[in-house]
Amino acid sequence: MKYYSTNGKAPIADLKKAVVKGLAEDRGLYMPERIKKLPKEFFDTIETKSFQEIAYTVADAFFGEDVEAEALRKIVYDTLSFDCPVVKVKDNIYTLELFHGPTLAFKDVGARFMARLLQYFIRQDNHELVNVLVATSGDTGSAVANGFLGVEGIHVYVLYPKGKVSKIQESQFTTLGKNITAIEVDGVFDDCQALVKSAFMDEELNKHMKLTSANSINVARFLPQAFYYFNAYARMKELGKADELVMCVPSGNFGNICSALFGHEMGLPIKRFIAANNANDIFYKYLQTGKYEPKASVQTLANAMDVGDPSNFARIYDLYGKSHERISNIISGATYHDEQIKETMRQCYAETNYILDPHGACGYRALQEGLKDGEVGVFCETAHPAKFKETVDGIIGGDVVIPERLAAFMRGQKQSVEMTREFEDFKHFLMSR
Ligand SMILES: *Cc1c(COP(=O)(O)O)cnc(C)c1O
Repeated sequence: MKYYSTNGKAPIADLKKAVVKGLAEDRGLYMPERIKKLPKEFFDTIETKSFQEIAYTVADAFFGEDVEAEALRKIVYDTLSFDCPVVKVKDNIYTLELFHGPTLAFKDVGARFMARLLQYFIRQDNHELVNVLVATSGDTGSAVANGFLGVEGIHVYVLYPKGKVSKIQESQFTTLGKNITAIEVDGVFDDCQALVKSAFMDEELNKHMKLTSANSINVARFLPQAFYYFNAYARMKELGKADELVMCVPSGNFGNICSALFGHEMGLPIKRFIAANNANDIFYKYLQTGKYEPKASVQTLANAMDVGDPSNFARIYDLYGKSHERISNIISGATYHDEQIKETMRQCYAETNYILDPHGACGYRALQEGLKDGEVGVFCETAHPAKFKETVDGIIGGDVVIPERLAAFMRGQKQSVEMTREFEDFKHFLMSR
């Protein structure tokens, strides 16, 4: 499969280049040249298949031309070492729980897949060690660090702003050891990002070591998220509830919903989609007006969705031939401010006993307000409520139980390297490795 850039000015890339580079030379996002339709027979019997079997069929359509069948099967099965179940919340509203992975959020699926695919490509070369640099304000660092943990041939450096990441988040990437090094930068998130960018541009450093990023815009991170939408459809079909399915995705950078839309293009019979936003309503406004106007993000309770210029908008725009009409025919929007998020979490808990996290709450509410007669809705619970325990406890007046794998992180020993925000110091550190 060939990959082109959404900006249209970069050379066509093969999968390996798209995965190793992440972003195209013209700063556009890579798109597969073709999206293969899956045969009708696949959907006719999908409910008889397991999550892993379904995922392998989807993976084969995306990556089968470029990765040997047995290797791809192993990558898929290793990635999906946990389930993404669909759970009934009430009446016609179900939740797709994406928090059963190692760091209790959906980014685990993409990060684990990318780690394994990158390893596959490295092994074709001369086994040179590849170094992944990632700047994080919290969630991305933990998903990437855990996704790559113990993957041979790759070392990960997670840069995070000292004192600006919650203890729970910090424990998820500073306690791992092995091939993960946490770097605690005396600065803010933007300083971490600037250090990573400078490193990629420094010639001497790039001669010394092979560097790559594990951005969420990487095709190997966003496409595999389609796996769980196909599985959700299968499980809803098993229940006899899949005839008029509405998929609702709490969205920030729009990578997650974008993978669902790719699934739809492959023939997945979802009737329509809802992108649920917090107060960062750039996409919502685009749907209303046809104008895409990025702006600075505002802080909300659903902070993993605090994005003012969603990167994957470029992919969605390209996927539908830049047509506002086609986009708004298949996707509708919703936007909720913090008071509405709180109210929704309280109301859902009182009515159904289900504990929503602030991101999932946007999805639940959008279905509650937006479902039409005969439709059944599934919203993504993108993270476990215990990841935001203090916030959630405060809102619902309850005591969210911390799952054992999260508690285990918090008991771990913190290991980190202190760093100034001066590039020369960071470079010196890497050069000495
Ligand atoms: C990253 C994230 C989102 C937003 O996903 P996008 O793919 O960026 O739209 C939503 N919820 C949680 C918990 C996240 O970590």
